[in-house]
Amino acid sequence: MRPLDATEVLNVWEHGLNQPTLERALILIAAACPELDSDAVAKLSIGARDARLLQLREWMFGSQLLNTAQCPQCGERVEWEGETTELHIQAVDDADSAEEFNLEVDGYRLRFRLLTSMDIAAVMAAAQSDSNIGSTALIKRCVVSADRTGKACDLADLPQHTLDALSQQIEKLDPQAEIRTELTCPECSHQWEVLLDIASFLWIEINNWAERTLRTVHRLASAYGWTEREILILSPVRRQLYLGMVNR
Ligand SMILES: [Zn+2]
Repeated sequence: MRPLDATEVLNVWEHGLNQPTLERALILIAAACPELDSDAVAKLSIGARDARLLQLREWMFGSQLLNTAQCPQCGERVEWEGETTELHIQAVDDADSAEEFNLEVDGYRLRFRLLTSMDIAAVMAAAQSDSNIGSTALIKRCVVSADRTGKACDLADLPQHTLDALSQQIEKLDPQAEIRTELTCPECSHQWEVLLDIASFLWIEINNWAERTLRTVHRLASAYGWTEREILILSPVRRQLYLGMVNR
């Protein structure tokens, strides 16, 4: 995995414009991880995927995160600040999704793998025709085989309690899949935990950056006659300085 330069980020942004968030995250990782083919990128566990997105975020925009959340008790909009370095709980090379694990619970023996973007895409597609499909369907996709007292059993027969235990186990093995942070409301002192959806968060930042950058290219190209390529290989500091001179 390596950082992307300005031209590459713009290409990713353009390519991802009309795609769903899930697809955008995969396009971004594929560009930054030439060592992985597109199938391997889609099969990264959600934790492994999000660890990579956090790393990319740090390279592109630094480690400081500013976000807002709404207090579930009084509805106050709360601004919060965090560091990506504090949210990094899984190493970038961790959690190979092809790896299989075992869990024995309630007399069932389950063989399973971690949740991937492909699972989420499949369940989202199914949910369009059947709105009852949800987290249970997602967990079931991770089960490679299940048996009870040596006899193979059908996924449909697994009790909810067993699936819940499996869900907890997957979360433990792939901790970066849920990026949580504790917040306290300044209005009512209510404390709660928010989840950071790094894929959506990063895309919004990339979108803002791309629009700003294209405007800068337009201004500098108009003023100096440089090509887009020539402008994009300038460091951000130089682009900003030239822009300041043009705007003067
Ligand atoms: Zn509150």
